[in-house]
Amino acid sequence: MFAAVRSSSLLRRTFTTRPVNGFTGAVGNTPLIYLKGLSEQTGSTILGKAEFQNPGGSVKDRAALGLVLDAEKRGLLKPGGTVVEGTAGNTGIGLAHVCRSRGYRCVIFMPDTQSQEKIDLLRMLGAEVYPVPAVAYDNPKNYNHQARDFAKNLPNAIWTDQFDNTANANAHYETTGPEIWEQTQGKVNGFICATGTGGTLAGVGRYLAEKGAGKTQIWLADPPGSVLTSYVTSGGKLIERTGSSITEGIGQGRITNNLGTFVDKLSGAFTVPDEKSIDMVYRLLETEGLYLGASSALNVVAAVELAGKLGKGSTVVTVLCDGAYRYQSRLFSRKWLESKGLDGAISDSLQKYIVL
Ligand code: PMP
Repeated sequence: MFAAVRSSSLLRRTFTTRPVNGFTGAVGNTPLIYLKGLSEQTGSTILGKAEFQNPGGSVKDRAALGLVLDAEKRGLLKPGGTVVEGTAGNTGIGLAHVCRSRGYRCVIFMPDTQSQEKIDLLRMLGAEVYPVPAVAYDNPKNYNHQARDFAKNLPNAIWTDQFDNTANANAHYETTGPEIWEQTQGKVNGFICATGTGGTLAGVGRYLAEKGAGKTQIWLADPPGSVLTSYVTSGGKLIERTGSSITEGIGQGRITNNLGTFVDKLSGAFTVPDEKSIDMVYRLLETEGLYLGASSALNVVAAVELAGKLGKGSTVVTVLCDGAYRYQSRLFSRKWLESKGLDGAISDSLQKYIVL
C-alpha cells in the first residue's frame, strides 16, 4: 500500500497537475498518513486521514462547504446573503473561509468555553462572533438555538444547522469516504472516530460500510461526558451525561440527524479518558512528528485500541481532525494542564514538550 513512500525518492508524491478553483477547490483530497511508530507497536496498519491539511485547517471545511453549496443549490442562499451557524469553532472557521471566498456575511454563535485562538481566528476571517454561555441543548439560550433565531429574523439569511442538516454527512459520504476507499484500495478493516455533529462518522462510515459489504467495521469513540457510547452499548438508551472532557468539538448528548439511524448500525463504541488523549497529543509529536489537537489524539488512541480488537495485521483508519495550533495555549501550558489534573498523565519522557 505504501510503495510510493518506500521508493528511492522519499519526497516523490502524487500531485494533481491542474490548479484548483479557489478556497473551495482546495478542500479535500487530503493525504492518508501511515502512522509508523504506532503501527509497528501494534502489528497493525494505523492510518490517519490528514484533515488538518484542509485549507481552513480542519475536517470541518468539508462540512462547511457542503452546507453552503447545498443551500446555494436549493436556492436558499442568494448573492450577498448571510450564513449563520452555532459552532464550537471549526465549522465556523470553515464557514468564514467559504463565506469570504463566495461573498457572504458570516455570523457565528459559540459557547464561551472554547479556546481564544478559535475566536480570534474567526474575527480575523471577518466573521461576527457571539460567544454565549455554554448551556445544554434543551435550554433556549443554547448557541444553536441562538443561531437559528438570529437567522430567522434576518432577510436573505440561512442557518446552516450543521447538527441536523444532512448536507454535512453527505459531504463526507461524497468526498472523505471515497478518498479513504481509494487510498486503501478497499483494504480497510475498521474505521473509528469521535463525533460532534456525527457528519464525519456517519458520512464516511456509511460509504465504507456499503463498499466493504459488511467487511469494514465502523466504530465510535467518545470523550467522557458524551452519551453516545452508552447509547450504542445499551442497545439504544440515552443515559444522562456525566463527566466532562478537555477535548473540543466532540461529544454529544443526543442523536443528531446526521448520525440518524446509522448509529444503530455501528459495530461498537467506547470512551477514551482524557489522560490517554492528552498523552497521545505529545506521543504523536514525539513519534510521528505530528502536531495535532486533542480530538485527533483521541481518535488515534481509539484506532490503536480497535486494531487490538480486530487483531494483528488489520488496517484501521481514523481522522486527524485539526492541528494543535488552535489549542496550544491550553494543551502545552503546565498551568492549564495542572488546573485539569492532567499534568501527571503525560509520560515522563514527554514532559519536555510542556513549554508554556
Ligand atoms: N474534531 C474537531 C476538532 C471538531 O471541531 C469536530 C467538529 N466539531 C470534530 C472533531 C467532529 O466532527 P463531526 O462534527 O463531523 O462529528
